Amino acid sequence: MPDDAPLISTTFRLVIAPSPLVKSVKGGVVNRASWVVRYRNSGSPFDDVRSPKVVRVGDRLGTVEQMEKHGPALVLRREERWRMDMVQRLQVLSDAFGVAGFEDEVRDVLHDMVGTMVDECQVDPLGNLICLRGEGPTVMLDAHMDEVGFMVRWIEADGFVRLAPLGGWDERILLAHRVTFRTDDGARLYGVLGAPPPHILSPEDRRKAVSLEDLVVDVGAADRAEAMRWGLRVGTPATLHYPFQTLQGDYVTGKAFDDRAGCVVALEVLSRLERERLPYRLAVNFAVCEEAGLRGARTAAWRLDPVLALALEGTIGADVPGVPEAKQPVRLGSGPALTVADRSIIVRPRMIRFLERLAEEEGLDYQYKLPTYGATDAGAIHLERGGVLAGVVSVPCRYIHSPVSTLRLSDLEATVRLVAAFLRRAAELL
Ligand SMILES: [Zn+2]
Repeated sequence: MPDDAPLISTTFRLVIAPSPLVKSVKGGVVNRASWVVRYRNSGSPFDDVRSPKVVRVGDRLGTVEQMEKHGPALVLRREERWRMDMVQRLQVLSDAFGVAGFEDEVRDVLHDMVGTMVDECQVDPLGNLICLRGEGPTVMLDAHMDEVGFMVRWIEADGFVRLAPLGGWDERILLAHRVTFRTDDGARLYGVLGAPPPHILSPEDRRKAVSLEDLVVDVGAADRAEAMRWGLRVGTPATLHYPFQTLQGDYVTGKAFDDRAGCVVALEVLSRLERERLPYRLAVNFAVCEEAGLRGARTAAWRLDPVLALALEGTIGADVPGVPEAKQPVRLGSGPALTVADRSIIVRPRMIRFLERLAEEEGLDYQYKLPTYGATDAGAIHLERGGVLAGVVSVPCRYIHSPVSTLRLSDLEATVRLVAAFLRRAAELL
């Protein structure tokens, strides 16, 4: 196959957003790598949302007849995938399914996006995607691939589905959302977290939050057997899927900016430093299971044995009405947030002073993430081996651990610039 050939075999459909670089194809079965795709026409039977979706090797994309009915598809060529700009990367990554423990779609997308920007990519036994370039002592960047989500806990005899949380949810926000399940074969199934009508509730009950324990998902099944025939079973992962959306100003919203924002920062930095020589081995770990207790970062750090590490996060923006400034861990529009301490790490002042100096030299606004909210992969990394000098730089995001996380692109860009400066100068800390 010539190098510039689309990596999709003969038959049909779709892909990435408007770009002069994409090419129409006729359709078929996915034959290589993974593809981020978008149907040109909305209302296609293959996809119920007008957002990109990932298809994988072996996926059938539909029939030629369906394709003809619903319009041509576009497919992105390999060499163009990693050139997608920052916003598009964020969109594609946020929309990908990546509940803790089920990060494979996000990993495939990242693997494609990293492309030739590194010397080598490895997937470790836990599913971390480790990308390596250069030689020497190891400097580690870490961004977690997983998002908070759920798995099926139980299917009732009447077909209603109960969920167990994967990661830390605020149970007050769950009611009346749509739920997207991903079955073993990658198909999507949908349901709603419905509620009894207010008309039949007592005034006290109307004011009460309903705990996840008491919520059920209505998937439209007549009974348990039907739900199971569709592919639901104990352990099927699920998320609250809201497609990426641009708001006004430079605000964007999506379901998984914690921590796909960090993943985008890592990608952008790799891209901007691609032609620069670094006097160390750079290891970028796209980690699994952060939301389940910083799990992937721990084994990756042991394997990589870094001398220096930086965790990249999307973190707790709370600059909203009703929250006093002293209780806002970070604010949107104030630039990257430097962690001084959270529940998992007390960052050494040497690291913080270094980051401050870099931000000032770059002319970037920055802020401190107020102690000691949250925990990050740096907490696991800095305790590996004989101890690792580690810090955390975060993109401020409001409403994390909800389907509508929201950030400002100016903060994202400033974080990229700070982390790029960090890598250019990291040798000063070695
Ligand atoms: Zn996170």
